[in-house]
Amino acid sequence: MSAHDDLRAHCRALAECRLCGHPSDVRPILSEAVRPRVMLVGQAPGKVETAGGKPFAGRAGKTLFRWLEQAGIDEATARQHIYIAAVTRCFPGPSPSGRGDRVPSREEQDACAQWLERELKIIRPTLLIPVGKLAIERFFPAMPLDRLIGRAFDVEHAGGASLAIPLPHPSGASSWIHQGDHPRLLARAISRIGRELKALGVGNGGKAKSAA
Ligand code: SF4
Repeated sequence: MSAHDDLRAHCRALAECRLCGHPSDVRPILSEAVRPRVMLVGQAPGKVETAGGKPFAGRAGKTLFRWLEQAGIDEATARQHIYIAAVTRCFPGPSPSGRGDRVPSREEQDACAQWLERELKIIRPTLLIPVGKLAIERFFPAMPLDRLIGRAFDVEHAGGASLAIPLPHPSGASSWIHQGDHPRLLARAISRIGRELKALGVGNGGKAKSAA
């Protein structure tokens, strides 16, 4: 079976996953990319994504795709060429505090890790873009974002090795992207992603200056 067939079979199985016992209208959110060489890993879908069935379809997605546009790839092309995964694939529901979405529990993260591992093995991405703390912690030891954003790293994972360029979470709830010299670090990360995407033939190199 080719990697393309493997990924299609994987997505069919993922679509049926009910391991975490979410309400029946909460389904795993799937990527549209079919022959990707780039993987982006987010945290978890929100209510908007659940309603529309697409990853990063809400406000955070608007910011993320603006960053990718600055990296030289428009949203439609990005959805086609970048496999969008997440630490967990189902909307975890609102936070008990009433502010934002609930952070997926450790049990949910552990249950869902098998899907990410399988995708890493099938896709063996050349470029990996972990977005936000939960996703970054899947590939890096705990450390301040300032030491990660704006840099590229060789990381090893279930599917081998990839160049990883982390991004902060694009949610409006994240204040990191507006503090101190963080806009400059973010612009540097976007610029590097642009160069890597261009080298892979899926972007025009971008023109990031100030990203936040
Ligand atoms: S969060 Fe992941 S493991 Fe849990 S039901 Fe959804 S797809 Fe399955």
